[in-house]
Amino acid sequence: MSSPEDLSKTYDYAEVERRWLDQWRDEDFYFDWESAKPQYVIDTPPPYPTGRLHIGHALNWVYMDIVARYKRMRGFNVMFPQGWDCHGLPTEVKVEEIHGITKNDVPREEFRQMCRDLTRENIGMMRHSLRLMGFSVDWSNEYITMDESYFGLTQASFLRMQKDGYIYQSEHPVNFCTRCETAIAFAEVAYTENTTLLNYFDFDGVEIATTRPELLAACVAVAVHPGDSRYDDLKGKTLTVPIFSYPVPVIEDEAVDPSFGSGAVMICTFGDKQDVVWWKSHNLDLRSAIDQKGVMTALCGKYAGMKAKECRDAILSDMKGSGILKRQEELPQRVGTCWRCQTPIEILSARQWFVKVKPEEIISSAKAINWYPEHMLTRLLNWTHQMEWDWCISRQRLFATPIPVWFCAECNEMILPDPDDLPIDPTVDSPKQPCQNCGSRSFTGETDVLDTWMDSSISPLAIAQWDGKTTPAIYPTQLRPQGHDIIRTWAFYTILRSVALTGEKPWDGIMVNGMVLGEDGFKMSKSRNNVITPDELIDRYGVDALRQWAAVGGAMGSDITFSWNDVVAASRFQTKMWNIVRFSLLQIRKDTRTPAEAPAELADRWLLSKLSATVAEVTDALDAYQYDRGLKAIRDFAWSSLADNYLELVKGRLYSDLPSRAGAVFTLKTALDTLCRLLAPYTPFFASECYYHLSGDRIIDQGWPDLRFVDDEAEEIGDLLVSVVSELRRYKHEAGLALNAPLGHVTIYTPGISINDGGDAGRCTNAEIEWRSDEPQLDRVLSDVTFTMGIIGPTFRKEANAVMQAIRALPPDALEAGVDSVLVNGSEIAIPEGAYTPVFSYAIGGEEVVLLTIPGALLAIRTHA
Ligand SMILES: [Zn+2]
Ligand SMILES: [Zn+2]
Repeated sequence: MSSPEDLSKTYDYAEVERRWLDQWRDEDFYFDWESAKPQYVIDTPPPYPTGRLHIGHALNWVYMDIVARYKRMRGFNVMFPQGWDCHGLPTEVKVEEIHGITKNDVPREEFRQMCRDLTRENIGMMRHSLRLMGFSVDWSNEYITMDESYFGLTQASFLRMQKDGYIYQSEHPVNFCTRCETAIAFAEVAYTENTTLLNYFDFDGVEIATTRPELLAACVAVAVHPGDSRYDDLKGKTLTVPIFSYPVPVIEDEAVDPSFGSGAVMICTFGDKQDVVWWKSHNLDLRSAIDQKGVMTALCGKYAGMKAKECRDAILSDMKGSGILKRQEELPQRVGTCWRCQTPIEILSARQWFVKVKPEEIISSAKAINWYPEHMLTRLLNWTHQMEWDWCISRQRLFATPIPVWFCAECNEMILPDPDDLPIDPTVDSPKQPCQNCGSRSFTGETDVLDTWMDSSISPLAIAQWDGKTTPAIYPTQLRPQGHDIIRTWAFYTILRSVALTGEKPWDGIMVNGMVLGEDGFKMSKSRNNVITPDELIDRYGVDALRQWAAVGGAMGSDITFSWNDVVAASRFQTKMWNIVRFSLLQIRKDTRTPAEAPAELADRWLLSKLSATVAEVTDALDAYQYDRGLKAIRDFAWSSLADNYLELVKGRLYSDLPSRAGAVFTLKTALDTLCRLLAPYTPFFASECYYHLSGDRIIDQGWPDLRFVDDEAEEIGDLLVSVVSELRRYKHEAGLALNAPLGHVTIYTPGISINDGGDAGRCTNAEIEWRSDEPQLDRVLSDVTFTMGIIGPTFRKEANAVMQAIRALPPDALEAGVDSVLVNGSEIAIPEGAYTPVFSYAIGGEEVVLLTIPGALLAIRTHA
């Protein structure tokens, strides 16, 4: 570490950031389980271990790190844990890719080991990236959802909710991906738009239109609207399904749209969600035409064994052949697809596990949480209101938390493990007791596994060191930070599970961030070639510039379009601040006297009052998670109030040996100290470096500033002082004078306000300044007459000079009032309008002055002094 006195001429972010990374210790950021301080626990999002941190992660972690650092400075005992959400399809698919296998090619346990190995490797890389970015993560509270210690808790939560009636298994239609061969939840269905063919065909004499002819063998009814008189004689009768020749009832339902196609629709189990509604409400048969691999079942007769698409083509061609296909037309369609592999989802009925959704519980808990920004609550409420099905939590995959359940091989009784024996894998472990029902010792372990959201939705309990039984002492947590893209999943499921398991909300507040878009305003993607990586940004401008970009990029909750300009602006601000610090430190160190406690000079009081207001503004912004507002206030103070105005005002005093120099030193020291503290959450490296040079100490050990220099009068009068000085500087500039050129005597009238600036204005403008609070006493003097030669020349020709002389000789009041004619050599000569303009000037005590006016002040410069 260099000595505090050495400030390099330019700020070398790469060197500084590397050095401070070495200085900070993991222990600096540990949560203290014994502390008496108020707690601030952040329920951080556990990323999926892909191996790479993208710019969206960087944005998220910057937001979290700002609040963590801020709260520590505010005296909170902060927990900023790091989790890893390991389970799930993407890793399984990656392992299949890497090893060139499918999950069924190797034993179950071997496949899972491959997934664990890949996950560990990826976590290692991402952990390294997080460390390089200097996030103040509490590594003593790291969690990995695939570890026994974590998934044992997931299993404990399953048992608890099963016991309390929240979890049940049932044969029920669910969304199913036939490529991934697993059920998925509604929140995991993605939607795409495409065009399909609507096929009109003769259904036993009735025209039916369908987009899914391959589901004909799954037809269980034909439905018409009760008011549709075209079908009066069919209601209550049966029709014969073409090709498959079996009878189905004709039912009436209000939900049928009589204007769509012929007004008669076929109900299949299941073409879409509406079919499920009809199937339930009319208590219809269940006919499964498609199996879990997407293959047509035995029900489909000669089409059995075909893939759905193949079957569709074959049935359409057979319909054509037999003459029952009447016509086809194109139809735009919104298709639900698998979030992971984009395969269109099927609705299949199968035995699955479900979590009961109780909307009232979720809504009242969600409303008890503070949402930042507030409107994100509406998104959660809307989603909750539209939930029609319970949450399907079973998956037919491998790399996930096992469902801790056995079934008795003899009597099919469900057997649950003792919570103290968790974690278990029912496909490997056996129950400790024989079946309570029949005494058998032969069991089948549940092979279904849990939805990954079952792991991550207990994160607030897991980080609070939940034992699976009693609500932890540090629960609920204080903050959940997350993206708006996972409100329907992570936020929704966490609230649902927390209320079910503890009866309480999971967090006091939730801060919802937006997404990062490419420079072109579109979602970043390889195909658009608009991807920016955090590495690239850090290489070029450093971590602190990235952090500033994230903080000012946009309001919390709104999407942020990436802009290199914002990054460059961030880097320029650091350069500017560095120059301010270098200059100020040089001045501060010249002073061996103890600086005055409360400075008396107007400029000092003005700056300290502005500084106090800035602290209040930044505090208020950070409390509301409005990072952009806070950083803008800091930049505005540093750049405008401090650098452009105050430093210019007091330079002369700092270069002097006046006693009032101490006040400027005190003010500068206070401003720098405060700015370092305000910047510490935003730019921890830069703030650490500046603060070390200022004090020799670490900024991460310091508290949040608490300034009490608010002085409304000093701010108001100081603003006037600042305007006066900048007006004089503007005048000098326009008059072509050097800024340090003497300006002579300047009288400044500020009627009703007496100003004592301690000589600052005079020193910084090199003028002799006289402040006066009385009304200005000015004499108006005619100083010149200007002529419009374009009129004088052509009108008077040879006599022009004589006419001008005569005009000049007129008395001032006549000139000002305007004359129609003058006497030249005894003859009256008419003067056209606009031929001349009298010029008046002002004088004080007979001396001519230049007058400048600004709001609240009149400046009289005695230029000939
Ligand atoms: Zn899929
Ligand atoms: Zn049994």
